[in-house]
Amino acid sequence: MIITFKPHTPPSEINKIRTFFIEHHCELKDVSLNDNFVFGVIGDTTNIDPKWIEANTYVSHVTRLNVPYKKVSRQLHPEDTVIEVKGIKIGGNHPLVMIAGPCSIEGRESTLLIAENVQKCGAHILRGGAYKPRTSPYTFQGLGSVGIQHMVEAREKTGMPIISELMSTEKLDEFLENVDIIQIGARNMQNFELLKAVGKVNKPVLLKRGISNTMEEWFMSAEYIMSEGNEQVILCERGIRTFEKYTRNTLDLSTIPLVKQLTHLPIIIDPSHATGNRDLVESMSLAAVAAGADGIMVEVHNDPEKAWSDGAQTLTFDAYKEMVEKCHKIATVIGRE
Ligand code: PEP
Ligand code: MN
Repeated sequence: MIITFKPHTPPSEINKIRTFFIEHHCELKDVSLNDNFVFGVIGDTTNIDPKWIEANTYVSHVTRLNVPYKKVSRQLHPEDTVIEVKGIKIGGNHPLVMIAGPCSIEGRESTLLIAENVQKCGAHILRGGAYKPRTSPYTFQGLGSVGIQHMVEAREKTGMPIISELMSTEKLDEFLENVDIIQIGARNMQNFELLKAVGKVNKPVLLKRGISNTMEEWFMSAEYIMSEGNEQVILCERGIRTFEKYTRNTLDLSTIPLVKQLTHLPIIIDPSHATGNRDLVESMSLAAVAAGADGIMVEVHNDPEKAWSDGAQTLTFDAYKEMVEKCHKIATVIGRE
């Protein structure tokens, strides 16, 4: 609900209405709009009739928010959210952020080698999975804590912040202590207990879109995190399942302008999982940058053919370097850098 007061409303009248909503367990958010005082109401307002509020002579009008994702929506938060991680700003009109690294962390040497090389190619943040959500229980499940420690060492050597996927609330403390951005994977996008848990912490969360989820369901998952108090959410489109078989998933590029229009959160594109094919990663990255993505996350390995997971979609250092250079050219053309 958005409450708009008439100009020159006495503060005591505004407070009366505020108190009414607070007594109904709602949260209030001030929004500035020309000369009129406006506030938004977040919470369950289904049993509140707007006419009760409009009965106050100082209230100009009451409108219901037409989306269920109140905190994610731009309606009550017109300015872009910018997430800062160790000095790197993601979102707003800040320069493109490049995230790269292996699908899975495979060992100390390879993690350090990949970290140093992706940084040389222009990456700002190191990615790597230590707890892997694998379709088969018989495939490599990740190095767990040992893998996280290899990433920590890579951060110490390069200064790059690290992002890794959290699959269970049991490991939350380990992630709070060690990683800079918590990734919630596509398969866990609707693991509501996990979302609530990361909503209670003070750490950026990258929320991937579920394999078969609508944008609205994705935004509602972000709402779960934000409604618990953690407003540092980054959305990540990684392709959705369609009938198409030539790609692993179908990259939904239209999420980029829609996320910008409907929400205030940053959007990162992951063309590796979206396509499943390294030959398609560069062109989809360029398209994502042209469409206004805030960053690109891709899988890169020193020897993709031998990667322990997702080798087919993983880039070599040389291919990554070329891709980054081209992304910056597009970013310059659209006035992003
Ligand atoms: C990943 O990024 O490591 C991953 C498993 O991706 P997704 O959750 O998008 O499948
Ligand atoms: Mn992967």
